[in-house]
Amino acid sequence: MATERKTTVLSDTLVEGAKELMDAEGALLFLIDAEQGEILQAAFAGVSFEGGIPQGPLSKIGLFGLACQEKRPVLIENPGEHPLKGTTPSLQTPLRQVFSIPLVREARILGVLNLINQKEGRFSSEDQDFLSTLCVNAAVALDNARFLEEVEKRAATDSLTGLYNHREFQKRLGEETERASRYGKAFSLLMLDIDNFKVFNDTHGHPIGDAILKEIVKVIQKCIRNVDFPARYGGEEFSVILPETIGIHAAKVAERIRKAIDEGPFITPTGHRVHLSISIGVASFPEDGRRREELILSADQALYFAKKDGRNRVCRYCDTLKAAIEKDQNKLTELLRNPEIKTIRDLAAVIDAKSPYTRGHSEGVIEYALLLADALNLGEQEKQSLQLASLLHNIGIVSIPDSILNKPGPLSTEERKIIQAHPGLAQMLIKESHNLDSVLPAILYHHERYDGKGYPNGLKGEEIPFLARVLGVVEAYHAMISVRPYRPKMSHEEAVQELRKNAGTQFDPGVVKTFLEILDKRNPA
Ligand code: GH3
Ligand code: MG
Ligand code: MG
Repeated sequence: MATERKTTVLSDTLVEGAKELMDAEGALLFLIDAEQGEILQAAFAGVSFEGGIPQGPLSKIGLFGLACQEKRPVLIENPGEHPLKGTTPSLQTPLRQVFSIPLVREARILGVLNLINQKEGRFSSEDQDFLSTLCVNAAVALDNARFLEEVEKRAATDSLTGLYNHREFQKRLGEETERASRYGKAFSLLMLDIDNFKVFNDTHGHPIGDAILKEIVKVIQKCIRNVDFPARYGGEEFSVILPETIGIHAAKVAERIRKAIDEGPFITPTGHRVHLSISIGVASFPEDGRRREELILSADQALYFAKKDGRNRVCRYCDTLKAAIEKDQNKLTELLRNPEIKTIRDLAAVIDAKSPYTRGHSEGVIEYALLLADALNLGEQEKQSLQLASLLHNIGIVSIPDSILNKPGPLSTEERKIIQAHPGLAQMLIKESHNLDSVLPAILYHHERYDGKGYPNGLKGEEIPFLARVLGVVEAYHAMISVRPYRPKMSHEEAVQELRKNAGTQFDPGVVKTFLEILDKRNPA
């Protein structure tokens, strides 16, 4: 954390500087907690410990802590014979001489600096005076740095639970989103809300509610890693950022937390055993949102769904979409009967949302299709049909299982057959709706190939309805420049290359030519 850096940098500078100035073999610094005398931080230069850096109370470091007990500088000429030798942690360098100075600020002991073995001879009285003056100044600097760190920490944490507060959470989520975008990494966000906590407060009183909140936070902290970032989002709501964690793994962490809280029991300060549960929503970058606000919305929606589904549940954002589509099978047909473009757009959004890889696909396709329609001088009627076909061409994927749709590797023959059935399925769904008749050919045949090797009917060249050929080119381009489960996205230049290469075999060469002219204007080299 940034707040630790100030004292760390100062401590490192102090040990390095003192060692050089005193021509010593090594320097050791221990900063302690002024009230308890516990070691908070250690820094060393030129020497290292045999058994790891000492931790715990100052008394554990024997000779190295003596100056603190005596509250004055101490020069130990024969450390090997000193009674405290036994409790002094061993260094890899044999001790010949130790000069130990307390760091004091306004009667508070902040720590102790130890100089080990002057290289040539012994520490002179001038050396000792000089070092004592240095330590007076170092103590002021360290004390100020600590004070600043404390202020920063207080500003970033919530006083009841000690977790990061809402503002710090927003800041960190923004940073994490940026980092993940830049380096192409995944991460996940959990939103947690205690179930029926209002009733708990009404029954036991607010102060006991507060005490239980602290206990719940301890449970959450036990279930996550050091690199995770837990925060108090508000009231009895928490959030956890899980860096470099994909959705399924995040759901496992969430389930661990849910289970640990469900298993409880919690003991109130008045000695009552109580049971509590928590609901958790999970959203992941990039599939559930690429921006901070989007991710929060997605995690919130998943949380809302977990509550609606009965509480004491973990729910992922993608599960909420699946449920919405399943529930909407009837709504789908109903929507299809509505000729309004707005309704069709909503419907397309639901279709695209089925897979993280097709989100925004229909809207993207429509944008290019309209540009192409203008360049090809299509009439109003054809333009309208192309627009609808662009929005609805994927409707058949509603019935493709997610395992196939999101499969990272190559598809089996059987799986390919299921995918290739989607234009036909789209036809079946749309047939119900008479006002969409004119759109059918474009949808049914948009996967045909100019050389006759496409599906579903193997139509060739001009046999393929014109709008289907147009849609085929636009949708292929949009798919190429988007991520797919089985490959990363192509650059615009690579996609153009691919269209050019396949003009005349996969695509209608005339349509490709016009489309490339449009793209050239939009993306001048
Ligand atoms: P749900 O399962 O739908 O989440 O039910 P709920 O009762 O928990 O509803 P909601 O999350 O909307 O209510 C939040 C309640 O949590 C309101 C308040 O009584 C309690 N609460 C919020 N912040 C604090 C707090 O800091 N201390 C205590 N003791 N209670 C709090
Ligand atoms: Mg709440
Ligand atoms: Mg609640």
